[in-house]
Amino acid sequence: MAERVIPVIAHRPAGRPVRAPDHALPASGRVADRLGRPLRDLRISVTDRCNFRCSYCMPKEVFDKNYPYLPHAELLSFEEITRLARQFVAHGVRKIRLTGGEPLLRKNIEVLIEQLAALRTPEGAPLDLTLTTNGSLLARKARALKEAGLQRVTVSLDGLDDAVFRRMNDVDFPVAEVLAGIDAAREAGLGPIKVNMVVKRGTNDHEILPMARHFRGTGHVLRFIEYMDVGATNGWRMDEVLPSAEVVRHIGAEMPLRALDASAAGETAERWSYADGSGEIGVISSVTQAFCGDCNRARLSTEGQLYLCLFASQGHDLRGLLRGGASDEQLAGAIAHIWQGRSDRYSQLRGQQAPDASAPGARRVEMSYIGG
Ligand code: SAM
Ligand code: SF4
Ligand code: SF4
Repeated sequence: MAERVIPVIAHRPAGRPVRAPDHALPASGRVADRLGRPLRDLRISVTDRCNFRCSYCMPKEVFDKNYPYLPHAELLSFEEITRLARQFVAHGVRKIRLTGGEPLLRKNIEVLIEQLAALRTPEGAPLDLTLTTNGSLLARKARALKEAGLQRVTVSLDGLDDAVFRRMNDVDFPVAEVLAGIDAAREAGLGPIKVNMVVKRGTNDHEILPMARHFRGTGHVLRFIEYMDVGATNGWRMDEVLPSAEVVRHIGAEMPLRALDASAAGETAERWSYADGSGEIGVISSVTQAFCGDCNRARLSTEGQLYLCLFASQGHDLRGLLRGGASDEQLAGAIAHIWQGRSDRYSQLRGQQAPDASAPGARRVEMSYIGG
């Protein structure tokens, strides 16, 4: 059989070259984009590799042994990441989330965490430093992560039924090991722990109630994420999206729920508490209810491209600027300049115009590359 060739360009388009602006744009901590949205949340993808093959993210047929993952020299080093992060913090970032791919696969990730934990806001406060993981290596690493300065973790888990979970991660990984990872994170003090469940209608929607029952009363916050049309490889179909409103109705019928106020502006999850006080859940309605209006998230890809939206087709090449010898002031100026030009609001527009993923320039990058 002929070997399938995957064009690298389809998944990692070359970034737009970034120039240092002619006029210095000093960091005031209040940079805003064209829709008046501040810069508060930075998600950093530390690797494009993963030991799972969740079909909605890294389907096996595409991410096989021939997939052109980035060679080590292409990745931002820890020093480069920290240097960039410092400039983002000067512009108003207060929360950093490490993600991937699977972030715990990046060698010596604790060293990066130590460096990021040492950063301070202009007011001298530490950052909200967190990490999203599939949990497979958490039992082994939780203590070291906490000691390095990580504050909390979000663990992805798509069901409690072992057969369903093994099928969804598509590498036959057992659910018990992820649950052990969550326990280890709690013991290490990496809480409050959030547990993310991507819901695919017809695949794991029957796991909603067992998951809710299991995590109720544990102090962990279970969040249900609508299956998104991110990337270009997961074969997304609208009829596989289960609207969050249905999730809330379903759980509420057995365990009455009360709506809570958002805990912070730009918060992606709508929060609900159990009426009897036994905990909280969240729903992330990325498809059925756009939350672009106060989206304050920037994403730094594994190779140092700045993406202004999860659905962007191109990033801004900060690594080129960094490796070209730019000063801190030039980096800060470039970041401000890029953010000030931002007008992305894909989810809001999704309902109005059907995106054509096959149109030139419309190829969206994969979530494993820019981070969830
Ligand atoms: N590997 C880590 C993990 O799974 O937690 C971190 C990276 S993963 C890309 C980040 C988050 O994105 C996970 O919670 C995952 O479930 C979610 N995700 C990936 N593809 C998705 C999709 N098509 N729709 C909704 N959520 C998705
Ligand atoms: Fe890996 Fe996370 Fe994507 Fe699953 S969702 S394939 S664990 S990066
Ligand atoms: Fe933010 Fe883009 Fe998602 Fe809208 S679609 S909430 S702009 S990342």
